[in-house]
Amino acid sequence: MQFRCVPIDTATATRFRQTGVDDAGQPVIRRVAKGGEPCRHCLRGAQEGDGLLLLSWHLPRPRSVYWTPSPIFLHAEDCPAWDEADMIPPIVRNSLISVRAYDDEGMCLYDLGRVSEGQEADGPLANALGDPRTAFVNIHTAKPGCLLCQAEVRPSGG
Ligand SMILES: [Zn+2]
Repeated sequence: MQFRCVPIDTATATRFRQTGVDDAGQPVIRRVAKGGEPCRHCLRGAQEGDGLLLLSWHLPRPRSVYWTPSPIFLHAEDCPAWDEADMIPPIVRNSLISVRAYDDEGMCLYDLGRVSEGQEADGPLANALGDPRTAFVNIHTAKPGCLLCQAEVRPSGG
């Protein structure tokens, strides 16, 4: 399975950092990391003492009745966007997760939804991405339900 996990796009992360206003029109909340908070841009856990932003992000997809906003943490300072092929990011590995698959009309494919430990995410993710109906997958934390990242099949050579 060739796939990639997709972080928040850099332009949106930069906008939150520069304006200090989130997608709900609220001021972003500034925190100092205790360690492990999941940054949605580098898809890595924060180190203790890192500056963080906590804010509401209006997810780019699904564009359907299944759309939701999500609370997210972001590093307050620039960090590198996750850009690894065929690898499940640390913030997914370190959480109890909910895998949610959607078709190309943004409709939720309930039968592909799975809750698992992040350490065991490979099977649920491969199952969802391998289904011909699936256009993309959103990976959320299972308990609070926040989006961790999106995932999609990576074209060969892409
Ligand atoms: Zn980061």
